[in-house]
Amino acid sequence: MARYTGPSCKLCRREGTKLFLKGDRCTSGKCPFDRVDTGSRNRDASPAAPGQHGAARKKLREYGMQLREKEKVKRFYGVLERQFRNYYDQAARMNGMAGENLLVLLERRLDNAVFRMGFGFSRSESRQLTLHDHIQVNGRKVNIPSYSVKVGDVISVSEIALKSDALKALSEGIGSRTAPKWLEIDAANACAKVVALPTREDVGFDFNEQLIVELYSK
Ligand code: SF4
Repeated sequence: MARYTGPSCKLCRREGTKLFLKGDRCTSGKCPFDRVDTGSRNRDASPAAPGQHGAARKKLREYGMQLREKEKVKRFYGVLERQFRNYYDQAARMNGMAGENLLVLLERRLDNAVFRMGFGFSRSESRQLTLHDHIQVNGRKVNIPSYSVKVGDVISVSEIALKSDALKALSEGIGSRTAPKWLEIDAANACAKVVALPTREDVGFDFNEQLIVELYSK
């Protein structure tokens, strides 16, 4: 499936907010959004919107705001349009508020859970680790990043990954990140148990999901 492979910081510039797509760099002071000096010659490292006239950000109308909010969530979780729409349709069929359901469904993705347990510096890296057979669920290899984790699932890192010198730094990251309360991390055994389903509060990002509901309800 085609995937965005351009500079991550450009996506943050486009959305006008930090999306935390580059792991530790996003909180290291190297993030263009945290720099006082915005006169960088590297356009991808500037917090202004992409494009020649990026600095002049237009005031968005209602539709534009809804669209940007959808793109923000998609980019945060690294999901493409069709898959995102499928998530929304599923969320709308569930009990409760469609917007919250949507975020919870995205939060339950296996690549997100792997990132939350600390294996991978960013969601895209955790996605790669999942695709490359380094993740098991309940002792069986699962290489589908969109796999939806359930209560009781035990997510673990494969023996091969744990023995790999190349992945050593990543393995040591397990448990180093503040874990959400729906995941019980066992850093010594490089695994995490899903002890509850995530809630809206566990997303930890100030999305306005109602705008997405309004967009798709037209
Ligand atoms: Fe976005 Fe800053 Fe991270 Fe780049 S370093 S991806 S601009 S949060």
